[in-house]
Amino acid sequence: MAYCRECGKEISGWATACPHCGAPIKARPQTGDEEYSVDTFGILAIVLGAVGAHYFYIGKTGAGVLQILFNIITLGMANIVSVISGVVALSGTQEEFENRFVYTEKTYPPLF
Ligand SMILES: [Zn+2]
Repeated sequence: MAYCRECGKEISGWATACPHCGAPIKARPQTGDEEYSVDTFGILAIVLGAVGAHYFYIGKTGAGVLQILFNIITLGMANIVSVISGVVALSGTQEEFENRFVYTEKTYPPLF
């Protein structure tokens, strides 16, 4: 089972839309489980988060570019977001990581 990102209610892992609130759910690929490793993502976020390496790793190029820009604008302070993302990912499960960071419509997961 999975949980809807919008309303938080339990939904089928195969659902394409939440039956409770109607939010669309980006389908998880049915082949090639664990396409992106939560461990790799977490380590990249903590070690190379300043250059958005963890976002490029999961294919979120826009988020990676944003991360670099934020770091430039904030003189590196935005790197704390990367470190927290890495710690959150590593302390959760593979599925939580995928729902939170990979199969989300957010431009800059997990924030917005
Ligand atoms: Zn919902």
